[in-house]
Amino acid sequence: MEFTEFTNPNLEVLFSAEVIAQRIKELGAQIAAEHAGQDLVLVGVLKGSSVFHADLMRQVDLPLSIDFMAVSSYKDGTKSTGDVEILKDLSNPIREKAVIVVEDIVDTGLTLTRLLEILGSRGARSIKLASLLDKPEPRINKDLKIDYTGFVIPNKFVVGYGLDAAGRYRNLPFIAVVKDPEQI
Ligand code: 5GP
Repeated sequence: MEFTEFTNPNLEVLFSAEVIAQRIKELGAQIAAEHAGQDLVLVGVLKGSSVFHADLMRQVDLPLSIDFMAVSSYKDGTKSTGDVEILKDLSNPIREKAVIVVEDIVDTGLTLTRLLEILGSRGARSIKLASLLDKPEPRINKDLKIDYTGFVIPNKFVVGYGLDAAGRYRNLPFIAVVKDPEQI
């Protein structure tokens, strides 16, 4: 399908649908190899990770379950403050389960740090983190460990493949850099 956004002059494709699919295949194989025989649950963090979550789970050749959380992170201007409100909690307990939190992008890392703290008190066998994108430059929590990373990207604002700008562009099949965020 030829998306009209391919010709949007303010978007520059960073990762094509094909490149993303190939990387997710590799991540899925790695996750499967490391979780055989475990009670695995892939927790998607709504809404940004929805596309990644849906594609990743189909590349993990193991019995598994899925669940979702929705959080709102408060921003002070454009910076994340680390205050996280749970808008939607998990539907099922994670006691004794091998949990992989599936995120779209780790930026300052503050949202995930808080989320992992919250989940950390629930008796899971293990909690790991998968993020499609890692933007290390603005990271505040330098200790945050991403177990499964799709791509490391520069400190630019990106959209597509689940990631939005003011609610738009989540449906783009590719990931693009917004050249002029003022014009989005
Ligand atoms: P942080 O790691 O700073 O706490 O926040 C991560 C969240 O900020 C992500 O889940 C995502 O919603 C948002 N975010 C960070 N960088 C970008 C970006 O480049 N593009 C988009 N669309 N959202 C971003």
